[in-house]
Parts: sequence; C-alpha cells; structure tokens
Amino acid sequence: MTTALKIWHPFTQEALDSPPIRIKKAEGAYLYTDDGRKLIDGISSWWVNLHGHGHPAITAAIAEQAAKVDHVLLAGFTHDAAERLRESLQRFLPSGLSYIFFSDDGSTAVEVALKMARQYWENAGRPEKREIVALEHAYHGDTVGAMSVGDESDFSRAFRGMLFPVHRVHSAYCYRCPLGKNLPQCDLECMGKLEKLLAEKSGQIAALIAEPLLQGAGGMIVHPVKFLQRMRELCTRYDVLLIADEVLTGFGRCGKMFACELADVAPDLMCLSKGLTGGVLPMGATVCTQRIHDAFVSEDRSRTFYHGHSYTGNPIAAAAGVASLKIFESEPVLGRVSSIAKIHAERLAAIKNHAMVGEVRSIGTMGAVELKADDPGYASKLRPLLYKFFIDRGVLLRPLGNIVYVLPPYAISASELHFVHDQISESLEFCMAHRKSLT
Ligand code: PLP
Repeated sequence: MTTALKIWHPFTQEALDSPPIRIKKAEGAYLYTDDGRKLIDGISSWWVNLHGHGHPAITAAIAEQAAKVDHVLLAGFTHDAAERLRESLQRFLPSGLSYIFFSDDGSTAVEVALKMARQYWENAGRPEKREIVALEHAYHGDTVGAMSVGDESDFSRAFRGMLFPVHRVHSAYCYRCPLGKNLPQCDLECMGKLEKLLAEKSGQIAALIAEPLLQGAGGMIVHPVKFLQRMRELCTRYDVLLIADEVLTGFGRCGKMFACELADVAPDLMCLSKGLTGGVLPMGATVCTQRIHDAFVSEDRSRTFYHGHSYTGNPIAAAAGVASLKIFESEPVLGRVSSIAKIHAERLAAIKNHAMVGEVRSIGTMGAVELKADDPGYASKLRPLLYKFFIDRGVLLRPLGNIVYVLPPYAISASELHFVHDQISESLEFCMAHRKSLT
C-alpha cells in the first residue's frame, strides 16, 4: 500500500490551524480562492510581489525565455537573460557595486555575503578577521548561517547548538529603546555598543550585517536614517565590511529603489531577492565591490569562491527580473509607492491614539501598528485571532504577534488599500474585547 503524501506547510500545524486556503487564481492585488472568495494580498505573498499578481509583461517574458534557454549552469557559462539582468540592475544599484553573484533566494544571498566577507579577509592575508556583528531583532533567513546572524527567536531557538556565535549589538527599536531613551532627545546612544565593539575588536571582525532602515520579521522596526549612516561611518573607520540585507527593502519597498539610497549609503555587499524577479520566481543575488572581488583573483586556485547552487542565475527567473525592472521604467512604479506611503501615513495617524495602539510606524509601502499586548512577541495570542479576523473580512494579513502590518503589491488601488486600513481600524475594537489588560 502506498503512503499518502501530504504537504508540510511552513509555520502551521495541522492539528491547531485551519486547513490551508486553496488559491486558484492570483491577479493584481487579489488572490481568488477555490470556494469563491477573493482576498486582498496585503503582504505581497510574503513580501515578494511588486507589480501585482500576473503582470502580463512578466508572464510573457517567462514564457518567451522558457522556450529559448530553460536552464544552464553559470559556472563557465553565461546566457542573455543573466547578462540583461546584470545590465538592468546596474542602472539602479548604488555606485561602487561592481560584481553580482547569483543564488536562489534571500537566505542564500545572505549565506553568500557572509562567506564572501569571511573569505575576503582570508584572501587579503588577514585570516584573524573572521567574526560577524549583527543586530538585535535581526532576521536574515532560515538557513543555518542566516539563522546565526538572525537574533534568537521562536523561529531559531531549537537550533541554538547548530549556529555560529556572532556579536549582537543594539537595534534602533525606538519604541522599546534598549537604553530607555526617547526620541527626539536621543543621540543614538544605542550605537555605543557597536562603536565600543569595533574600537576594541575590529581586528577580529570581518563584517557587520544589517537590514537597512527596516527590520522586517523582527517586528517591522523602522530605524532613523542616521542609524544606518552611523553604521556605515563606523564600518569605514574600523575597516569592517558592511553587508546590507536588502532582501525585503529592495526594489522600492521603502520609497526608493533601495533603502540604502534613502541614507545615501553604499554598502560593501548587498543581498537581494524577493522583488528581484517582481516576486514571481525564486532568485537571490549578492552584489559586491571591486575591492572584494579582486581579493579572489589569483593564480592560487584556493582563493576561488567555491560556492554555487544548481539553479544559480536561472534564465527564466532572470528574464522575469529584467521584465520587472523594465516595468519600473515604463510605469509610474515609484509614484505608486509614494501614494501607498501617503495613505499609510494618513490612516496610521488617525489610529495612533487608540487605547490599543502602542506605536504606529511606516516607511514606503510598509505600514505597521504595534498593539499593546500582555504577551508581546511573535507568540502573542492576538496573532491567530487577528489573522482569522482579517481573512474573514477578505484581507490576507499575517500579524507578527502583536504587530499588524500591511505591505501590499504596488498595484493595489487607493480604495483597496483604504479597505485594508478600515479592517485594521475595526480590529482595534475587536482586540480590546480580547485582551485582559493594557501593558
Ligand atoms: N533577509 C531578509 C531581510 C528577509 O526578510 C528574508 C525573508 O523574509 C530573508 C533574508 C530570507 O529570504 P528567503 O525567505 O527568500 O530565504
């Protein structure tokens, strides 16, 4: 007798959660279920979709590429799709980034950056510079290296013994300031820990990795621009590489093409994925400076970067990426992003004094409400209640515990986005009824 094979769905438990919702069509900002409902995709299907589902230009580019070259290895070979994606990306990337290394997803883009940073110093004759610095509340993916640089959380606790140690420094989580300060009086005293660490130990430190301006999975925490600028200054002063993980923030999410641009910061390495293909096919990329690349150029083969995934630079994904970047030029994409940002600002301002609201935060297309809860954090009891509340009202939102956020595809219309905010406003009364006491 054959055993029934079932899908093991991420983040869910069969016995505790409702059965998965089956989607039969995705178009624009909507997901259509097989039982006749439609849901607004308020989180861009895990932060990937940029231009709305089923954008015809991306769909056509995929079909065309699949008929030409479906897949070919990138070691010793190249193809038009990868070359066109390289060319298109270079028009948007911060200056100083000269090499792109393709991989599969956000986690692998981070793994590549960490390994490049480490081997860079090895190749440069400074093998003692091997340690990594990362931020509190950081999330960089689910593979072992990416989890190591991510802060300890419910997601990674079971794997503690597998992870490599990192230096953990403060995030600028102003609502829960690690030093008890208040904006705007503070002078980023939270950076003192990083400064002290680099002053004392930069001789052992290879790189600092950070999500620029917006820490996503850690709670949609928005940093002051100065925080990123100061990280850049300190890394330069102490000769430590700065890795900007733009997996979430890239491709317009924060208002400009890359979050680093908002701070006028150029990192040494940048990790890209999610929106890289318009959010349609998996692909990762790590972009680095000439200086980093050149340390791998040698007659000595042992200096080679021996890292390569089977699907590295997949032509179909690359063609989707080229089509997505063309849409940035042929349609008013960044204008749509700023319209979303305006609606977030206006709607969040209207609820910020509600008794249930601790803080509202927004940057670009991300708008979030941190709810007051007796049990703040991902495991908050508010999470499953709110998830169901929104689904029942036709909106897909996946609160991060007591933090409700919207991160929609850029194609969402003003009325659709207002509808999502209407549901968030109404959820506050619902929450009041379900919580025991305000903290
Ligand atoms: N880095 C950041 C900042 C992310 O938000 C994520 C995913 O949410 C990742 C890396 C990992 O990306 P992936 O899920 O594609 O492996």
